Amino acid sequence: MGMAGLINTRTSLRHPFSVPRLFSNQSSQASQLATRAINPLFPCAKLSKAGAVVMAAMEVSKAPSSLDLANRQPSKDVLEIWRNADAVCFDVDSTVCLDEGIDELADFCGAGQAVAEWTAKAMTGTVPFEEALTARMSLIKPSLSQVEDCLEKRPPRISPGIADLIKKLKANNTEVFLVSGGFRQMIKPVAFELGIPTENIIANQLLFGTSGEYVGFDPAEPTSRSGGKAQAVQQIKQDRGYKTLVMIGDGATDLEARQPGAADLFICYAGVQMREAVAAKADWAVFEFQDLIAELP
Ligand SMILES: [Mg+2]
Repeated sequence: MGMAGLINTRTSLRHPFSVPRLFSNQSSQASQLATRAINPLFPCAKLSKAGAVVMAAMEVSKAPSSLDLANRQPSKDVLEIWRNADAVCFDVDSTVCLDEGIDELADFCGAGQAVAEWTAKAMTGTVPFEEALTARMSLIKPSLSQVEDCLEKRPPRISPGIADLIKKLKANNTEVFLVSGGFRQMIKPVAFELGIPTENIIANQLLFGTSGEYVGFDPAEPTSRSGGKAQAVQQIKQDRGYKTLVMIGDGATDLEARQPGAADLFICYAGVQMREAVAAKADWAVFEFQDLIAELP
């Protein structure tokens, strides 16, 4: 597949309302940008800097005209929970980060198109998550060194405003977790960048053989199955004895986490991906993390 094909695959995954413009805080490597900035609507600013996580600035259009969500304004009850939550769990792909980690890895390993189709299917919730994950990973079969190379050459891009939001939550003594259907190995640098301890990452685990070859993923991780995020969030709440917990994400599995015993509140972050079915059912829908920061004490 040529570069044009890859770029198309990447841009087609984004909703039509947001036109992210990405800037880099490492302008010395600006020459690297040229290779991925083919589509003027979506210059993919990725830098090949080892271990780096790119902080992206993004312009997101405000409320799309075709969508009039009643939940853009939080109710008094919603704000009460948001301001006093013991813990906040963030989805990673298309929430904390601008990309879908598995799609990135697939793209890097040359299986972009086939895997993106599976990801789209997994998002709609019509295919069991474990089935979609197994199918995608057997198309990619990433070796340990490919995963490491991918992280180095395409560092995860952090969504605008998320670092400030997490800083603010921590200052208010609200514990922060990353709950993801992606892979722990790929989320670690993101957690490190945001000051989130590794024990607060709940995600899937890639398994490699003795020579670093892909052998699978750990099926014991709840996040590898449908309904897994709800289960993971419930576990966090139980283990840590939290009274109120908030889930923030863009997908159906994040919405699912709002249920008795698990998340008390679901906030849809639609700044990267706008999924109407998810946003419409959220307690609060935001397009910018700034809106969440503004309502914190
Ligand atoms: Mg997501």
